[in-house]
Amino acid sequence: MAANEPESAKCATCVYWGLEPPRKDLCQRHAPVAGNRELVAHWPHTKAWQWCGEYVPDVGQRLTHCLDCRFWTRWPNGLEPRDRDDRFSAWWAQAGYCLRFAPKPSRELGPRAYWPATNAADLCGDATPALRVVSEDEDRSRLSGR
Ligand code: SF4
Repeated sequence: MAANEPESAKCATCVYWGLEPPRKDLCQRHAPVAGNRELVAHWPHTKAWQWCGEYVPDVGQRLTHCLDCRFWTRWPNGLEPRDRDDRFSAWWAQAGYCLRFAPKPSRELGPRAYWPATNAADLCGDATPALRVVSEDEDRSRLSGR
């Protein structure tokens, strides 16, 4: 353990860790960023014992799913991409775009921007709830089609 590391700070007890079931080792602190090709958001893996300066202890806070996030946009039947990446049709039927961040400028001339695809049941630490309130039961039933 480094000299200044808080003793309890580690990914295993961080509120942003392992939010996407059944995977338990993903850091979902940040929303995905736009790129210059179509892409599915993949959050990075970290080890349970690792930590970083954005650590927030998990004390049962409820984070916002993409479905309820004001930065999420989707069409009634989800997305129909040319490249399905590693996701099944059922995932794409519940998919939309995360518009949380503007594309960043690059050295390339005139690249096209693509916002990343996420699923209604994804969540992250950059989410901001839309102005509508849902109960936990409603939340569970809406996300069960994942
Ligand atoms: S919760 Fe919101 S900010 Fe986070 S990935 Fe989903 S749409 Fe993007």
